[in-house]
Amino acid sequence: MKQFAIFGNPVEHSISPIIQNSAFKACNFEAEYSKILLEDGKKLKEVFLQNNLSGANITVPHKEVAFDQVDEIRGIAKEIGAINTIVKEDNKLIGYNTDAGGFYESIKEFDKITPIKTALLIGAGGTAKAISLILRDNGIKVTILNRSQPRLDDFIKKEFECYTFKEFDADIQNFDLIINSTSAGLSENILPLELNVLEQIFNTANFAIDCIYSKDGILTPFLKVANMCNIPNKDGTDMLIYQGVLACEYFMNEFNQRECITKAMKESLK
Ligand code: NDP
Repeated sequence: MKQFAIFGNPVEHSISPIIQNSAFKACNFEAEYSKILLEDGKKLKEVFLQNNLSGANITVPHKEVAFDQVDEIRGIAKEIGAINTIVKEDNKLIGYNTDAGGFYESIKEFDKITPIKTALLIGAGGTAKAISLILRDNGIKVTILNRSQPRLDDFIKKEFECYTFKEFDADIQNFDLIINSTSAGLSENILPLELNVLEQIFNTANFAIDCIYSKDGILTPFLKVANMCNIPNKDGTDMLIYQGVLACEYFMNEFNQRECITKAMKESLK
């Protein structure tokens, strides 16, 4: 039986084994998916090979260090500089980034209602790197807004329009989609931006999405404000599922079963 795993630190909270095992079962793919707590990210390749894995996902904080350990990088991961999926192919480790495609899949339902041409991306961490590039590749103009300057440098090099909170004037710009890719609201009840600035941005926006997923049906602080402003919105659950769907297709080397994989993953979380 083929073996797969997710590497992270911490990894206990990960729901990837639940969604991946349910998709394997639904598609009659004989494989098992487990969690591996990895403290030293530099040992990822060694541990991958020791465990005789056929593939893996990588989560915080190892996505960048994993990028340097595979034999080949494919797709948008080359631009992002981080991978969340590895597949063993002819004894070579191939790295992919499915966070980017997963995010894009998750906003398609908004785009069908009103096409998204501009986006304000709050946050400039690893997730923002993936989101900014996939949106730009799909013709959406992305503006980055971050609390502090240092993480913006990389986005400036990639020629994104960037602002720190201090520099940003919410009066003069409108955006179709507002994205929270910060970790504000993940474990504490805090907003990524001051309430009045957020309300001003939402007033002229069409949609909002938080990369954080709601727990026990409780909305994130960012989405509570979006609701107050009557903006159609969603949390990060679809993003999480779709990155898993795209990874699963690589694991199974099967690209005609997306519907079955997606259905199994969504049901496994109910
Ligand atoms: P990083 O640690 O790489 O980046 C964190 C970002 O959040 C930085 O831009 C930081 O700003 C900003 N930030 C942190 N605290 C605050 C605050 N109190 N107010 C304003 N800004 C703040 O994180 P990641 O990019 O890896 O992850 C970001 C979020 O995305 C997490 O909540 C994570 O759970 C979620 N995520 C969801 C996924 C999904 O599938 N749904 C997949 C991956 C991530 P600064 O530079 O100033 O420090």
